[in-house]
Amino acid sequence: MKLYLASGNAHKAAELQSLADASPASGLLPFEIVSARELGGMPEVVEDAGTFVGNARKKALALRAKLPADAWALADDSGLCVDALGGGPGVESAYFAGPQGDGAANLAKLVTVMRAVPAESRGAKFVCVLLVCGPSGEEKIFEGESAGRLAHEPKGGAGFGYDPLFVPAGHEHSFSELGDAVKAGISHRARAWAKLARWARSRG
Ligand code: IMP
Repeated sequence: MKLYLASGNAHKAAELQSLADASPASGLLPFEIVSARELGGMPEVVEDAGTFVGNARKKALALRAKLPADAWALADDSGLCVDALGGGPGVESAYFAGPQGDGAANLAKLVTVMRAVPAESRGAKFVCVLLVCGPSGEEKIFEGESAGRLAHEPKGGAGFGYDPLFVPAGHEHSFSELGDAVKAGISHRARAWAKLARWARSRG
């Protein structure tokens, strides 16, 4: 099954492709994630819906309009919800430090605003909404979460975004230290993907 990815984020595309590669494809053609770049790039979308689902829908519909008639669009809207920040930055995760969407600046800002927050109040979770939009406008939504806490300092080299600061539940190291393979077993994106893959298999 071919899914056209409504994202310009190369990290998300790589994670989704490796999740797709690892999905059992019984009774189905293997999943193939096609980057919006192959269609001339992701159309500009203002992510102002205020919810992960709403933003994912805007992205999927924007790309869907450029696709061949029988194709499916896939959008990923995701973010980090921090207890001590009332669930923020949440849907604003990509723009926490400003409209330029600079991942390193976002991470640095999170380190700073969380500096004085004690260990027992550093809970956080990643949320991922995957939304697929089909040829006749049909829509399916799959959500995944990964709970954990924030370290005081970023550590590790793998992953992207807030991965160096996020320590998933049951672990003592950040997503970035744990590496791609461990993250792929427990991440918000992996959990949402597992639901999508189950749905795709059930379609035969
Ligand atoms: P959006 O879905 O394009 O609005 O952006 C999601 C933002 O949430 C990213 O720019 C990252 O800052 C953050 N984010 C989402 N998923 C992850 C992840 O798996 N690791 C680290 N940061 C993430």
